[in-house]
Amino acid sequence: MFANECQQKKTNACKIKVNAKTLSAEQRTSFPNRWMNSQCWLSKKDMPVCGLYSPDGHKWFADRKMLNQYVKKCLNKNQLDQITTRFTVSDLKDILPQEIFQDYAERSLKELLEKPGTFCKCPACSSPFELDVSITGTLVPEEQTTLAKLTDDDGNSISESAQKHYMEFRIRCRNNQCGKDFCRSCWEQPYHIGFDCEQFRSKQDAPKCRFCSKQLNESNRVSNPPSKALASVCTDELCLTKMKVSCTKVLPCGHV
Ligand SMILES: [Zn+2]
Ligand SMILES: [Zn+2]
Ligand SMILES: [Zn+2]
Ligand SMILES: [Zn+2]
Repeated sequence: MFANECQQKKTNACKIKVNAKTLSAEQRTSFPNRWMNSQCWLSKKDMPVCGLYSPDGHKWFADRKMLNQYVKKCLNKNQLDQITTRFTVSDLKDILPQEIFQDYAERSLKELLEKPGTFCKCPACSSPFELDVSITGTLVPEEQTTLAKLTDDDGNSISESAQKHYMEFRIRCRNNQCGKDFCRSCWEQPYHIGFDCEQFRSKQDAPKCRFCSKQLNESNRVSNPPSKALASVCTDELCLTKMKVSCTKVLPCGHV
């Protein structure tokens, strides 16, 4: 008996739900069933069917305003899981005003992307895609050969730990129009082959030759530079030549 009655209510509510989406506000208010009363499952009060909503997969209906307030409350407290476990996306589209639904959709995508190892977003084209999380750590011979052939920007083969980092964090964008690679740990794009993120960062900060951009250290930095402007030069033949040419071009104000 109760189940029948419930089924009947559900059918009415479905009609309302469909009509609420497709009818204009004027048509909606003139809908004959809007004066039919039914009980809100949350407040237990009788109210017009047109003010009730039945979430997908549930037999009950509740006051649309109460559902709306509940979802907004969860959003304010940032309890997205409370919302996703109780409502489907199409429910939320129905219950929420458009700008709040938009906010929810953006936040839930962001949450999904920030969960480690499941989803990621290409830093170049912003396409989100799912990651293969079944990386086992044991490599097939082909993978080992490919890894062993990897070289950094200077053409040097890379260390074993850098190979491991590459395997774990180097991602190629699945969007065919993009296809760029990046690091899914620090989001550097392109991926920093030959270094872990921290090494890469300190390499970025280190002084470089002003002509060839090679990283400078004690052994490859020019000694006794002719001016402060020419202090960051490496000892490569070509760069030394460029330095000498620059030397003759120093302006009276000190600029090179
Ligand atoms: Zn991309
Ligand atoms: Zn990185
Ligand atoms: Zn140089
Ligand atoms: Zn000047």
